[in-house]
Amino acid sequence: EGVSKSFALPRKHPFAPKLRVSAVADVNLNVRAGETVAIVGESGCGKSTLGRLVTGLSEPDTGHVKIGGVDRALTASSGKRDHLREVQLVFQDPLASLSPRRTVAQTLMEPLRNFDLCGSDVGRRRRVSELLEKVRIPASAGSRFPHEFSGGQRQRIAIARALATSPSLIVCDEAVAALDVSVKAQIINLLMDLQEAESISLLFISHDLPIVQHLADSVSVMYLGRIVESGSRDDVFLDPKHPYTQALLAASPMLQVGRRARATLTGEIPSPTDVPRGCAFSGRCPAAVSRCFVERPQLSRLGETHREVACHLVG
Ligand code: SF4
Ligand code: MG
Repeated sequence: EGVSKSFALPRKHPFAPKLRVSAVADVNLNVRAGETVAIVGESGCGKSTLGRLVTGLSEPDTGHVKIGGVDRALTASSGKRDHLREVQLVFQDPLASLSPRRTVAQTLMEPLRNFDLCGSDVGRRRRVSELLEKVRIPASAGSRFPHEFSGGQRQRIAIARALATSPSLIVCDEAVAALDVSVKAQIINLLMDLQEAESISLLFISHDLPIVQHLADSVSVMYLGRIVESGSRDDVFLDPKHPYTQALLAASPMLQVGRRARATLTGEIPSPTDVPRGCAFSGRCPAAVSRCFVERPQLSRLGETHREVACHLVG
């Protein structure tokens, strides 16, 4: 709710003014139980920062992250760590996120020990085999090291680690971006199966629109730290309202879109230190009118629907 996060930039020289960039600005996002919400947008739009805020790897400057309706900042200050179990993260590169010096079983034992789960080490070892089975890796693989596996298998192991604490939400940040096409499909199907079997919610951060169309229930489109459009998967993909969403979809030839979007994406995403006044998309928007350069459009609901769009020309 109303989550913002900015970062200080290193100064170019000692007397240079302090600059801050706003990575995430006033974001509201709701992920329901068992639902897959995708966050899409070009690189640098704040998707990963948002994922880290949701996971608890960084704290918002303002706003609240609530898990099951409870503000995480409150549970954190109470000294209980249960809130950290609830949300887990799967990164793009499992080779970087899995320790090369630990066997797979050691890696999976760690969260179980940290949160004192499964009673004893005997119980935890049983759970490790069960976790490997869930991601379709033979239990005998537990004694091996990450480098002995393929990229797809490593990502399965990273998913097993995320599942270890029985989270209610898994944040996948470009979790399949580095994989070959056929392996990508397997991992996506595994995530979808697990989600159903374990009734987990997924926050799926990706720039891969065909994959998002395949697995998301609802989609939020980010541009320069703000959500500019959100709605159900079919609403957003088949009838995009925001000129930026239209341009993003038009730039992805693999998509099955309803009517071809009119807009095309020209120019580069502006530097986050130099966000235009008014609508952040105004410099690239083919539909921009004079109002767009002075007044920032608010994200607002379209009628009675769950769709929200931030554009002066919509709604
Ligand atoms: Fe384009 Fe104006 Fe809408 Fe921004 S508010 S997306 S500049 S038409
Ligand atoms: Mg990223």
